[in-house]
Amino acid sequence: MISLRRTNYLLLLSPVYKKQTIFIMYRTHTCGELRLSDVNKKVTLAGWVQRLRKMGGMTFIDLRDRYGITQLVFNESVNTALCEDANKLGREFCIQVIGTVSERSSKNNAIPTGDIEIIADKLTILSTSDVPPFTIEDNTDGGDDLRMKYRYLDLRRSCVRKNLELRHHMTTEIRKYLDNLGFLEVETPMLIGSTPEGARDFVVPSRMNPGQFYALPQSPQTLKQLLMVAGFDRYFQIVKCFRDEDLRADRQPEFTQIDCEMSFVEQEDVLNIFEGMAKHLFKVIRGVDIDKPFIRMPWIEAMTRFGSDKPDMRFGMEFVELMDVLQGFGFSVFDDAKYIGGICVEGAATYTRKQLDALTDFVKKPQIGAKGMVYARIQEDGNVKSSIDKFYTQDTLQKIKAKFGAKPGDLILILSGNDAMKTRKQLCELRLKVADDLGLRDKNKFALLWVVDFPLFEWSDEENRLMATHHPFTCPNLDDVPLLDTHPEKVRAIAYDMVCNGIEVGGGSVRIHDSKLQDKMFKILGFTEERAQQQFGFLMRAFKYGAPPHAGLAYGLDRWVSIMAGLDSIRDCIAFPKNNSGRDVMLDAPAQLEQKQLDELQIKVDLKK
Ligand code: ASP
Repeated sequence: MISLRRTNYLLLLSPVYKKQTIFIMYRTHTCGELRLSDVNKKVTLAGWVQRLRKMGGMTFIDLRDRYGITQLVFNESVNTALCEDANKLGREFCIQVIGTVSERSSKNNAIPTGDIEIIADKLTILSTSDVPPFTIEDNTDGGDDLRMKYRYLDLRRSCVRKNLELRHHMTTEIRKYLDNLGFLEVETPMLIGSTPEGARDFVVPSRMNPGQFYALPQSPQTLKQLLMVAGFDRYFQIVKCFRDEDLRADRQPEFTQIDCEMSFVEQEDVLNIFEGMAKHLFKVIRGVDIDKPFIRMPWIEAMTRFGSDKPDMRFGMEFVELMDVLQGFGFSVFDDAKYIGGICVEGAATYTRKQLDALTDFVKKPQIGAKGMVYARIQEDGNVKSSIDKFYTQDTLQKIKAKFGAKPGDLILILSGNDAMKTRKQLCELRLKVADDLGLRDKNKFALLWVVDFPLFEWSDEENRLMATHHPFTCPNLDDVPLLDTHPEKVRAIAYDMVCNGIEVGGGSVRIHDSKLQDKMFKILGFTEERAQQQFGFLMRAFKYGAPPHAGLAYGLDRWVSIMAGLDSIRDCIAFPKNNSGRDVMLDAPAQLEQKQLDELQIKVDLKK
């Protein structure tokens, strides 16, 4: 072991470098640190063997740590025994090397340390390594499952490590931004009571209270509201939340929220503060200046123009409704429809029949559910050629063209259906698919907006009742309160989502702080007084003691990071993610409990076949 040294230790916080002086036992420098100015210095490095090359009597090793790669040189003619030791090293051995920094004759411009190498004169194996199951390179040969099983090796790859560094950088900036504005980070408990409203809970049996269960929080919603009652008027927490839902690329059973709440504020205050935070993050993380205020788009407008409450606004192709132009000509598909609408794809009239058939197959997929797709090409002479020519005159087709303001060379794609909302959602899928095919969803372009005025309730066919669109604590638009008794489905919520590139990155609402109004909400949501008391009695009680007006929101940190890093899946920015069946394949969890543990919990497992 080398002696204790005082080193100038370079801590990489991509893309910011911080210098910090601390004592390091095993190394004087990191593998990303040495430059030409360090030539002739005696140094000690520690790290992993990335690659070993033998050339003549020389052995070259790429030594890797979190900070980079430095080339080590072992010269057989200078120190035969040392070179032989080096030749015995395998990939991913963890070693320590003492040597002298020397200028390289053939420089490597691809890495920051490429001007120098270390002429080694002492080698210590700190730990040997089995042959890793996949190559520790950005372009690895390891498949998804294998990489997840050996995630600690996967995390050695710089492309994966960088995502976690970016995540750290983001959370640091978020804390700084919120701290500057007087927000307090307060931890709330992980073992709480179950709240069946919302997603399914993960539950935890209590040994000391046999037969009773905690639930892991789906979010700290009610607790942060209680903190407002307690007078902590600006709260935040970067917090794990748990939802037992079916998984997709952007969902994990446990995920991280940047959870915030403020007192004595209105919607506009919350939007301003958190729009500021988004702008700050884009500036410091991506170097992108967003100076314009975010659009605030009412939900109904988003649904009408884009068929989505999270419209991707990096490109156009807005919906145009065509009921007035296309109904009444004997084409029964359109005549019977409750909605006919389309998008205009610029310059796509050259799409082949095969491409159009592929789009038709796409919208007919069961998960999209359209019956078919109609297309119209704007020809070079301005005439419109469509798949429904036999039902419509050129005059009518020209009216479609005019409604879109389409030009020669454009392609119009039309969907129809007897449920307007459903058809719009199908058209939204088509719009996104076409944009994907045309490369319009550029990961380096960012389009942010607020969607506001969500409906307070949505109908659930499954439950056969109204459900809270957001959650039961969301305040109705006060102008709409009279409608609560007569047309609750028409009531707008004071709720907002922040949307970036077609992804909901955060959302929240102004909360109800009046216990009578909260009572009424529970009634409309079908809670009996007894059940409301049992589940939310603590909150209603608290509201009787001077609850301040309050509002808040929560951002999904994993989604934010994956947008900033340009990732396809949030899994890539989580150190130890679960797979699509909710399993941690590395830890092999979840797993059965030992009988002793079950006995302690007084739980008998009786699996249905
Ligand atoms: N608790 C909410 C959620 O998890 C966010 C909020 O309303 O603050 O979606």
